[in-house]
Amino acid sequence: MKKYILLLVGILALLFSVSGCGGEKKNEGPKVLKVGTEVTFPPFEFREQGSREISGFDMDLIRAIGRKLDMQVELLDMDFEALIPAVKRGNLHLVIAGMTITPDRQKIVDMSEPYYTSGLSLVVKKGNTAIQKPEDLKNREVAAQIGTTGEAAAKRLAGDKVRSFKTNEEVFQALKENKVEAIIIDKPVAQYYLKKNHPDAMIAGDTFEKESYGIVMRRHGELTPKINKALAELRQSGEYDKIYEKWFGKEVK
Ligand code: GLN
Repeated sequence: MKKYILLLVGILALLFSVSGCGGEKKNEGPKVLKVGTEVTFPPFEFREQGSREISGFDMDLIRAIGRKLDMQVELLDMDFEALIPAVKRGNLHLVIAGMTITPDRQKIVDMSEPYYTSGLSLVVKKGNTAIQKPEDLKNREVAAQIGTTGEAAAKRLAGDKVRSFKTNEEVFQALKENKVEAIIIDKPVAQYYLKKNHPDAMIAGDTFEKESYGIVMRRHGELTPKINKALAELRQSGEYDKIYEKWFGKEVK
């Protein structure tokens, strides 16, 4: 009997080692999670001056998620409009880029449970009293980033007077140089740019479109439930709150 058990153990060990050799995962350490983002979206993703490293709320969040999944996060900076196609093609495992959950995007990719509540703002030069609300944009030059919900809103409100740019730095530069009269951009990002680099501009009126950010993954892939689970665990453990407070203080979520 003992012999048979030993034999069985031997066969099983052999099988495991054979499949181990054929498989890719043996002794490779943590797998790599290829994460796409776009770095002109502070304080969610940006490069501190003089630094090559990408920092921000999203970056801390995705690194915490990576630790939960025992996967190493590899960040790739891309044009915003290229992010979803890259997930679709399988060049990225996921995207975290302050990306708003919209029904149109959900037709193409999976989006996680919401991880941040946001909204769109109008930004104008200080002293501009002509623009107070979205409807005031009609027939005015408005700037926004290509592929964003801000750009979609701008097209809806200002028609063909919209100037679209690849980066948000260019968007703000266009306002600075008076090439446009207003910008549409996510409120927390507007606040950051105004405080850091653009004291001559201000937010006009109220936040006008409530949005929630989600992490983007391949449609119906195995990553979606894992990411949602990791997010829920980070919220439960208080780690999410710590990251939130680091970047936004103790304001209400
Ligand atoms: N939240 C906006 C969107 O999803 C803008 C995101 C961004 O510019 N990174 O379109």
